[in-house]
Amino acid sequence: MLVLTIYRLLQVTIWASNDLHETFHLPVSPLALEEIRDIQLTLTKIYPSTSNTNIWHYIWGTATFRPKDYYSYFFRDARTDPMFKHLWKSKCTMKLKVFGWLLFHDRLNTRNMLKRRHFNIGYDFDCLLCGLPIEEIVDHMIFTCDFSRTCWTKLGIQWTPFGNRLTALKLNRDSWRDPFFMEIFLTAGWSLWKEGTTNTSVELTLLLGPGFHASKMT
Ligand SMILES: [Zn+2]
Repeated sequence: MLVLTIYRLLQVTIWASNDLHETFHLPVSPLALEEIRDIQLTLTKIYPSTSNTNIWHYIWGTATFRPKDYYSYFFRDARTDPMFKHLWKSKCTMKLKVFGWLLFHDRLNTRNMLKRRHFNIGYDFDCLLCGLPIEEIVDHMIFTCDFSRTCWTKLGIQWTPFGNRLTALKLNRDSWRDPFFMEIFLTAGWSLWKEGTTNTSVELTLLLGPGFHASKMT
């Protein structure tokens, strides 16, 4: 935007200093001629500053561009669920935070999602964790699956009543008496995800003890 503004200013300066015959189809109307003369007069009073103190500022007030400032300014009125703030403020690695973001937005590649995206994964879309004929969607896989519920119970987390995943998270976080709720949720959720996709989650073993795998459910 800054470059465009300077470019247009230069354009105005150039045509204002040239002969009118080179710029316009003459004769112009008396009103247009008067406006051109006004602009020419105004431009004669403008002198480019060579002072270092004459600095362009972005609309958000700083002279240097930072993506963070851009997003903070243009999305200042955006309202998001508080769980997203807790997600990004958590002490987990970025890998787990991105996993959480995908989970919150229902963007994980569950079997249901792969089917919707027309991936060739056969005709079995059922949950691998519980082995029941229930289609693998993110809410079932992470929250309501029998296997997942058993894991969450061991961690002291209950998802009942479960309606909306963000609401369920908020209810549990509000009643959580210990620190690191979001960290525990992301770590356990990631472990369930790994277990559901590979059936050999090392993280799940570390979290819940040896031999605690979905294969034990079937
Ligand atoms: Zn299941």
